[in-house]
Amino acid sequence: MRALPRDRSGAFVNWARTERSRPLSWRVPTTEREVVDVVGAARAAGTTVRVVGAGHSWSRIAAPDGLAVSLDRLAGPVEIDGPRRTVSVPAGIRLRALSSALLRAGLSLPIVGSIQAQTVGGAIATGTHGSSLTHGNLSTLVTEARIVTGTGEVLDIGSGDERLDAVRVHLGALGVVTRVRLRVQPAGRLHQSIEQVPVGEVAEALPEIAGSAEYVKVWWLAHATRAQVVRYTRTDDPVTRRPSAATSRWVDERVMHRSVFPALVALQHRRPLVTGRVNERLSRTYLGAASQVGQDALMLNTPMPMRHRETEAAVPMADAPEALRRVLELFRDGRPAVSFPLEIRFVRGDHAWMSPAYGSDTCQIGAYSTNGPDCTPYFDAFWGVMRPLGARPHWGKELDHTAAELRPLYPAFERFAALRDQLDPGRVFGGDFHRRILGS
Ligand SMILES: Cc1cc2nc3c(=O)[nH]c(=O)nc-3n(C[C@H](O)[C@H](O)[C@H](O)COP(=O)(O)OP(=O)(O)OC[C@H]3O[C@@H](n4cnc5c(N)ncnc54)[C@H](O)[C@@H]3O)c2cc1C
Repeated sequence: MRALPRDRSGAFVNWARTERSRPLSWRVPTTEREVVDVVGAARAAGTTVRVVGAGHSWSRIAAPDGLAVSLDRLAGPVEIDGPRRTVSVPAGIRLRALSSALLRAGLSLPIVGSIQAQTVGGAIATGTHGSSLTHGNLSTLVTEARIVTGTGEVLDIGSGDERLDAVRVHLGALGVVTRVRLRVQPAGRLHQSIEQVPVGEVAEALPEIAGSAEYVKVWWLAHATRAQVVRYTRTDDPVTRRPSAATSRWVDERVMHRSVFPALVALQHRRPLVTGRVNERLSRTYLGAASQVGQDALMLNTPMPMRHRETEAAVPMADAPEALRRVLELFRDGRPAVSFPLEIRFVRGDHAWMSPAYGSDTCQIGAYSTNGPDCTPYFDAFWGVMRPLGARPHWGKELDHTAAELRPLYPAFERFAALRDQLDPGRVFGGDFHRRILGS
């Protein structure tokens, strides 16, 4: 079993080490019956249940205060249905383990984010996404889900059941998701290319860039003169970077992200004025032009970064140029001293009620930073320009929104709230964070 996201004292700690909470106890059910029993025990004790996935959310969404439940040991097969191109999995499975099982069967997930350390149940909970207007976020892959509700009922929700669009981005608020069926596709190879583009040209070109490849994203290291447009296209060319020979990834994770970047960040915290020069150099070298071919899911991942903070805003594609212009404007005077990239990704519109991409193709702009003195003011300024555009926050990243602000941003908010009332009338899956974002 993997290590649970908790410290030696039993407190929950998220990956970024920015959120902590002290649950009453940890439960690790091995069967669905035991999950039902945990929910019943919480109801009887008048406390809450919070499933903790991999603890990879920056927001407080996974922080338990009642019973913390890990599904790491929840038994259940990985059932691959080749002809229907679906896979049914226990919800506690990590994306990486799922991708490996799929690859052995010649299949892959059509979309993945930067990493695959998350659980399937946790990834879909927050609308985890990669970057593609061809494919939606991971939640759009869900074709069936099985959940244990707040009343202890076990529900199978299949396609054709409108509740599936609620469960797709469930926020951990509707029940314990025990199994999920996902759409998959034949595995293939992707060619990655990186184009350096003057940052001043990127905002206007965003709609064109977004549609220029099956997968495409933009990185910009604050203050650098150029941004990187990273494209991935299908190819039959041989692999140039194999998982078994992942030396470059190893170097990235073990050397760059554990030693070199922390040292540079420490320097930038001491001397913020060097940030621009350091970022310019990194932008031209480390993030420089590169051309590689590899297995699809692997190519879409990035090396595991050093610990940092993230917040992210989603706007309809039509507003993307204006949104990016406003964010770039924040850096006009040489501050804030931010040593992480801004990441601009694209997500095909969907119908999941609480998805940031609900209703239209979306541009999701991520503001990332180490936990230095400039971070909180940066995130505040970022939301200062994003809020007036009606941007929706990523549920798994830092957000300080309230239900009153979120309700008008999500046309299906009230339907989600009504379904929550039905499935969890006693708020077994409640808590402070969920009260804030969903109301009571
Ligand atoms: C290094 C890093 C890179 C990342 N890259 C991306 C990226 O590229 N794209 C992106 O969109 N996001 C990204 N994220 C954010 C991450 O994908 C989301 O926060 C995701 O929700 C975390 O999954 P998790 O398994 O850790 O879930 P947790 O954070 O543990 O939980 C998230 C929510 O899901 C609930 N939950 C989990 N499992 C279940 C279940 N089975 N039943 C009911 N509720 C459940 C929890 O209670 C909680 O409410 C990244 C995060 C990190 C740390």
